[in-house]
Order: sequence, then C-alpha cells, then structure tokens
Amino acid sequence: MVETLLARNAAWSERLTREHPDYFPRLARQQAPDYFWIGCSDSRVPANVVAGLDPGEVFVHRNVANVVHSSDMSLLSALEFAVGALGVRKVILCGHYGCGGVKAATVGDTGGLSDHWLEPIRRLAKRNAESLERMEDVEARRDRLAELNVLEGVARVAETPILRSAWAKGWEVSVHGLIYGLKDGRLSNLNCSVGPGDREV
Ligand SMILES: [Zn+2]
Repeated sequence: MVETLLARNAAWSERLTREHPDYFPRLARQQAPDYFWIGCSDSRVPANVVAGLDPGEVFVHRNVANVVHSSDMSLLSALEFAVGALGVRKVILCGHYGCGGVKAATVGDTGGLSDHWLEPIRRLAKRNAESLERMEDVEARRDRLAELNVLEGVARVAETPILRSAWAKGWEVSVHGLIYGLKDGRLSNLNCSVGPGDREV
C-alpha cells in the first residue's frame, strides 16, 4: 500500500515537472495562500480539490466535523499563522452534508473521546431541537445541523482574540461559512459572513 502511494507520488511529481517546470521551484520559494480553510477530515472533502485550488493557494486545518473549539490550540495556531504571518484575509469554514461526525453527535454516546469532541454539536442539536424535530426526514435534520454547526463555527472564529486583534489593527479579514454537498460536489454559501467589527460582509 505504501509502495503504491510512493509510486503514484513519483508519477504525479514527474508529470507536473514535465508540464510546468517552474511548479515546484515556485512553491518551494514561498507560499502565499489567499484562503484559510477550516473543514472536516472526511476524505471526500479535500479543500484544494473541491475549491478548485492549487497547492499554495489555500492553508488548511481539518478536524472531525469541522468543529471550532475556542480552546483548540491546533486550530488557533493555524489561524494565527494564516492571518498574522501569511497575510490571509479570507477565512473559510466549510461543513458538508452527510457528515459522519454530525451523525455521531445525534446518536447515543460511544463513551469515547469523540463524545467530548462532538459536544458542541450535541449542544447545538439540543438548543435547536424544536425546529429540527419539525423536519421529518432524519437525513435532512442532520444536514440542517451540519449547517448550524458552520454558522456556530463562523461566530466562534469571529470571537477569537486573533480575529478581534486583526480587526483592531484595521486588517480586512473576513470569515465565511460554506457547505459542501457530497452528492453533487457543489459548495453553497450559507450567507453568514462576518468582517471587521462583526460587520456582515
Ligand atoms: Zn464530516
């Protein structure tokens, strides 16, 4: 399996070098991504591929069910580096329909670490129980919960000291919530964008 991976890598690298001789030297000199992407670890939602971007164009952080925990040092470090050091001005929080993490948060506890990780989604489901229960289809209910998780995540990113201090410095950083459909490969804007000073953008 690992040998297959190495062979595919070699073929990919050789093809790109042949077609675009400056590709790797250019990327090696610097990365200047326009976007910071927070997404789900799901193997079917790779940021570069679904957004049609090349390596070097998007700085990425992924975790199970794209949860924004305000104390997640991994996510916060990546966010700080993206905004402060790389100069990224568009933060994208992207969820997806059919998310296994969202589904897991709606069924019984496993007694494992994932229960802790997914706790914010469980809390969201409880807070929105009335409107969610009005939806008869269980899949539609989970997909709505996946959207709510993105809305919540965007608000949480906007609340971080990293964003607040960027805005205090006058940086035009904005946070956007998108959702991806596994069934049609389309990204949709959830229209919950936030810009400097909590302004809608
Ligand atoms: Zn997922």
